[in-house]
Amino acid sequence: MSTNINMDAFWMPFTANRDFKSQPRIIQRAEGVMYYTNEGQEILDATAGLWCVNAGHGRSEIADAVSQQLRELDYASPFNFGHEIGFEFANRLIRHTPTGLNKVFFANSGSEAVESALKIALQYHKSRGKGGKTKFLGREMAYHGVNFGGISVGGLTPNRAGFGPLLPVDHLPHTLDIANNAFSKGLPEQGIDKAEALEQLIHFHGADSIAAVIIEPMSGAGGVIMPPQGYLKRMREICDQYDILLIFDEVITGWGRLGSAFAAEEFDVVPDMITSAKGITNGVIPLGAVFVKDGIHDQIVNNVAVGGIEFYHGYTYSAHPVACAAGLATLDIYEKEGLLTRASGDIGTHFENQLHSLKDAPKVIDVRNYGLVGAVQFDASVAANGPVGLDFQKGCYKRGVMVRTMGNIVAFSPPLTVEANHIDRLVNVLRETAEEMF
Ligand code: PLP
Repeated sequence: MSTNINMDAFWMPFTANRDFKSQPRIIQRAEGVMYYTNEGQEILDATAGLWCVNAGHGRSEIADAVSQQLRELDYASPFNFGHEIGFEFANRLIRHTPTGLNKVFFANSGSEAVESALKIALQYHKSRGKGGKTKFLGREMAYHGVNFGGISVGGLTPNRAGFGPLLPVDHLPHTLDIANNAFSKGLPEQGIDKAEALEQLIHFHGADSIAAVIIEPMSGAGGVIMPPQGYLKRMREICDQYDILLIFDEVITGWGRLGSAFAAEEFDVVPDMITSAKGITNGVIPLGAVFVKDGIHDQIVNNVAVGGIEFYHGYTYSAHPVACAAGLATLDIYEKEGLLTRASGDIGTHFENQLHSLKDAPKVIDVRNYGLVGAVQFDASVAANGPVGLDFQKGCYKRGVMVRTMGNIVAFSPPLTVEANHIDRLVNVLRETAEEMF
């Protein structure tokens, strides 16, 4: 693959820079569920960009809304000034959030949403005289973005190692259990007992020292790890018992990925805060948000005399008008096309059946799925020179499909507009690639 692009200056994120620049994969154009390379090859986007382009690419409704907003009000400070579209977007968003989470704090990314949620948790406890509650509990293999709070509660070693000292945190065990749950369709049966580790950590640290637990209801970047049946409800019970806030990081699971607007709704467990980003604007303009329970907001805001700033936190681009315009147009599409629940219908069933047909592909040790997200895990022994990830990704790309890989795990999260024939193509390419490589 040749290109004339000078690649020296751009230090690419989370990328094997030297490998990429010696063998670049340049995307030029996107439409629907397809990318097109600079060499004219069509690539099926089986990852919705980075788990974010839920309504598919090239949505003219969003482009028009963004263009119009840029002409009308391109930017205004959100500190002590407002603009109508920010309030309008917040009001529209909370139509989809679980009951009671009716306050929206805007950020620009998932990472910033996470930092904001952690700070809200600290401020909440402080404002009610419980300033000793300063620790956070995260979980092994979790991804909560790349800022210092996020990597502290996150559980992916390469993202944490070398960046300390970090915040005072401890970690729950992850729930991936291939020995007992391999080839589960939907939520795995075994593993509710892993929730009991929360109570043990609380006893160890003392409930009076813990502000919040943050988990992804389904771990995405850690390898598509589903919550065992009953696990999330048990987490909720334990948090209630010990006066600890429960934060769901729904940056990936939000906006229809699992068949409901949020995993909280899909699994019928209401957290105290939800972090969101990615699909909130169909991934096309950066925007993050924290959805906060009314009581938490009221506690913080009403604790300060009128005229005083209640929460010393915010971003230059919080509720950026152009991002809000993109978000409103995205919500219109989600609502009009029924995308937030599409994954729970026939297309989700087809995805599940097709993915599980890979059970007998070479070296496959697990297939797992829920809604329109899934993963295939390969036997670690296939890797002569380390994890198979990058080579497998290249093998699929060569055959016209973009997948995401983490070590020996290959993950899929196509746009929610995906059709059965695209899923069939994905599965054929996965099998061919596995047969070629192993
Ligand atoms: N939280 C979760 C669960 C994520 O999956 C991600 C990104 O993949 C983030 C936070 C960070 O989001 P961003 O890359 O927008 O900062």
